[in-house]
Amino acid sequence: MINIIGSKAHLLKQIEDEHRAKYFDSIESKLTDLSERTNSKFCKKYYLLLKENLNDILIGRPDRLNELKEEIVEFEETAPKMWFDFFWLRFLKTPKLLSIFDYSDFSGQYKIIEWGAYKFTRLLDVNTCLYCNRSYIFTIVVEPDGYNLSSTDEYHRAKRARPQLDHFYSQNQHPYFALSIYNLIPCCSICNTSFKNTEEFTIESHINPFHESFHDFLRFTVRFKKSAELDDLLTKGKISPKDRLMMYVDFFSENEDSFDVKVAPQKGKEMSEGYSRAFANSKSFALEPLYNMHKDYVSEMVLKCMEYNDSHFSDISEIYGLDEKDLEKRNRKLRYFLGNYATEADIPKRPLSKITIDIAKEFKLPIS
Ligand SMILES: [Zn+2]
Repeated sequence: MINIIGSKAHLLKQIEDEHRAKYFDSIESKLTDLSERTNSKFCKKYYLLLKENLNDILIGRPDRLNELKEEIVEFEETAPKMWFDFFWLRFLKTPKLLSIFDYSDFSGQYKIIEWGAYKFTRLLDVNTCLYCNRSYIFTIVVEPDGYNLSSTDEYHRAKRARPQLDHFYSQNQHPYFALSIYNLIPCCSICNTSFKNTEEFTIESHINPFHESFHDFLRFTVRFKKSAELDDLLTKGKISPKDRLMMYVDFFSENEDSFDVKVAPQKGKEMSEGYSRAFANSKSFALEPLYNMHKDYVSEMVLKCMEYNDSHFSDISEIYGLDEKDLEKRNRKLRYFLGNYATEADIPKRPLSKITIDIAKEFKLPIS
């Protein structure tokens, strides 16, 4: 939901170094070997192209991966019209490259002390799905008593869980990116398996959370439905603003069907390409219908925001002795009040924090 490169900059160097150290030499030697053994000039050039760019393939950022993808696809179009090259590109390339860029070696590494999927997601330390911000995706390994690190069998005795890793560029279409670290998006099983599945993404069509922030372009908003009953209530005679508000709150709190959650562009981003990419993510991951399943949470949030007022807030302030002018402390107060994080940087920490921030802003709470 937000670009996690910025907030995780201090960890990325270690992630890149460990990833490169684990895979660079072995893959380079396999590509060298294949380039020397093939009888096809085209295949030889193909393997050498991957070898020359191996460092970027393994640890290049999403924009570099996109350049490489275009370069490789362009090269594939130069394939001679010979049966072997055609057959290799069509049928042999993908399984061959998947055996070299062996994702199962990475994903199957359960040992938290050795480089693999567990160590990657633990180091990255994001708590919620980067696509939907609805599900927790903790990395956890609980070792039983007497756990023996040197015994392979014993690894299966540990209780463990980690996020799924979505291949932003699919393994099937782009097998050379099967092990690219910035092509592996920590996410929940619903986003990865149920919704994205085999849909093809690029950084031109969708938001990659290692590249851009969904939150920069798209917000969730509450759209109240037209209600004759409510209109009638509100237009009856003279009603004080307070009564009017309370009438509205009463009506609203009893009627979750009185509103819908919609996605909308952030202010000033209506015409941006980023918005169309964020909107594509919202479609691919069914975010609007899914967030409408959270109406109970959203209605509580709206009611909190409607009931928010300075005196209520200063009560909280007094309890904690917090200074309104201090931004960090104000954010803590807001977090207490909203029951969720109130700053963009904290969105990956807890489910539904993105929609909480969007609604709080929509209802004029002092979200910075
Ligand atoms: Zn998700």
